[in-house]
Amino acid sequence: MNDTYDVVINGASVAGCTAAVLFARRGAKVALLERRSDVNAYKVLCTHYIQPAGHPVLAELGLVAELEAVGAVRNSAKYWTRWGWIKPEDRVGPDVLPHGYNVRRETLDPMLRRLAAETKGVDLLLGHTVNELITDDGRVVGVAGSAGGERFEVRAKLVVGADGKDSTIAKLADTPSETTPNNRFSYFAHFRGLPRPDGHIAKAYYLEPDNAYVMPNDDDVTIISVLPSMERLGEFKADLEGAYRRFVKALPEAPDIDNAERVGKIVGTINYPLITRQSTGPGYALVGDAALTSDPLAAVGCAWAMQSAHWLAESASSAVLGYGDLGTALGAYRKKRAEKLKAHAHLIADYATARPFNRIERFTFSAAARDARMAEHFHVFGSRLMSVPDFLSPWAVARCSMVNGKALFRSQPQPSAAPERVLAGRGA
Ligand SMILES: Cc1cc2nc3c(=O)[nH]c(=O)nc-3n(C[C@H](O)[C@H](O)[C@H](O)COP(=O)(O)OP(=O)(O)OC[C@H]3O[C@@H](n4cnc5c(N)ncnc54)[C@H](O)[C@@H]3O)c2cc1C
Repeated sequence: MNDTYDVVINGASVAGCTAAVLFARRGAKVALLERRSDVNAYKVLCTHYIQPAGHPVLAELGLVAELEAVGAVRNSAKYWTRWGWIKPEDRVGPDVLPHGYNVRRETLDPMLRRLAAETKGVDLLLGHTVNELITDDGRVVGVAGSAGGERFEVRAKLVVGADGKDSTIAKLADTPSETTPNNRFSYFAHFRGLPRPDGHIAKAYYLEPDNAYVMPNDDDVTIISVLPSMERLGEFKADLEGAYRRFVKALPEAPDIDNAERVGKIVGTINYPLITRQSTGPGYALVGDAALTSDPLAAVGCAWAMQSAHWLAESASSAVLGYGDLGTALGAYRKKRAEKLKAHAHLIADYATARPFNRIERFTFSAAARDARMAEHFHVFGSRLMSVPDFLSPWAVARCSMVNGKALFRSQPQPSAAPERVLAGRGA
């Protein structure tokens, strides 16, 4: 094949399929390349929590009704801290908070790929592995690779790397990147029929420094994920099954794993550094994990993959159709990404060092555990629907001060009995 498109996208997973659909709906001719040849292939290393920030893109794709029909769980969460549970739903009641979905990747990925394949203007080319960039005067103008033992070339006005954490496009383009360590590892397993005393509410545990999640998904499957600090790696390497079960059973309100069927093996990753790449270069752009691989603990990757694909299509569609300058359009995409994600990504990377809670976390998390209004504020921030400055707005700081001040006052010995004793002593 030697063809010319408006956009060629490498990788047909969350970011790539979203970008393909949204570019094509704006009139672009898109080649969507995927090395795997099975349309039903899915990413195994994922715990399936699609943050509420991803909901508007799912709605734009037109997938909400289908997700509901396959039993995707509208997500909400409560968070365990040393100050008690942070329970956002206490203030507003069930099903009122903004939500995303908990839906297994084996359900979501084929759904996205089928949508892309059925979208007019998208050529989904499965079994195509990209291993070369075509350049012209320093500018990327296409990709080449192999499919069924044959070499192929696809040229396009814009090349998009949606090829995940180890992005081939980024490597071939020698894209500047920054890597920071992740001092936690993660293991998870799926359980069918796990008793759900909290209904659909997910549980997140801040165990300082370890973390854990219990998240109900579609098909009555609940995923239980443990994210201990590296200090405990030896224990898990020596006996994965035993260490995982001990960890889960020691959780507050521990899920009853003895009364559920485990589906599949315990899987995970012990080395998952965070990677930030420059998201554009001459003739190309990166979306999803290719641009920013964050900590699995934050469960932001899928929503950010969809959002970044949306921002790119919004910024660059006109330019690839010949209206406007592509360099300027890619600059706008880069700016939007930085504005929306940079501060969040920085905080997540800092927390991934597995350091103790800092003063701001102690101040805000303790208030959220004590006050339903702050719990909601905390949840909306964690859902990545609120900026970092808004999370720490003057209102929020004042509210935390008031809530924590009241708690401190209540914890002081109360002087109420003393005057009575004094009066009694005087024979009043
Ligand atoms: C343990 C763990 C738990 C996680 N849990 C969550 C969670 O709960 N919620 C959440 O939102 N995120 C989570 N994530 C992150 C999430 O999985 C990713 O952010 C998300 O999959 C990124 O989507 P993507 O489309 O950018 O990349 P990917 O899903 O990685 O897809 C990349 C695609 O590119 C293809 N490809 C790669 N190279 C080539 C090539 N050379 N040629 C052709 N095709 C190629 C691949 O086959 C693949 O289909 C988790 C990650 C881990 C590791």
